[in-house]
Amino acid sequence: MDIQHYKRRLIEEEQRLLALIERAKEEAREAVPDPVHDRTDESVLDEIKEERLEEAALKQVRAALQRIEDGTYGRCLVDGEPIDEKRLEATPWAAYCRRHQEERERSSSLKTPSL
Ligand SMILES: [Zn+2]
Repeated sequence: MDIQHYKRRLIEEEQRLLALIERAKEEAREAVPDPVHDRTDESVLDEIKEERLEEAALKQVRAALQRIEDGTYGRCLVDGEPIDEKRLEATPWAAYCRRHQEERERSSSLKTPSL
């Protein structure tokens, strides 16, 4: 497995998410103060929601980078089984083998970002 390849992709993803989070923060800031209309703007709430998703994604990306440092990258966090390279190619921050990923998707709430 070419770890450097995944590392590069993870770093790219980290940069992309950071830029998105930064932009969402700015948009939320700009949209909030509106003393004239005193609106509770739905779009601001959307921005905030989006920011949360991106922060959750960023956490996963950084955890994967940490696993590269630790030498445990590409292995399931639960049982240490190797993660299918096709899955890593699609989602380089995948942290579980297919079995445990499916178990988590079944048991977790709807709030988990679909990564
Ligand atoms: Zn597993």
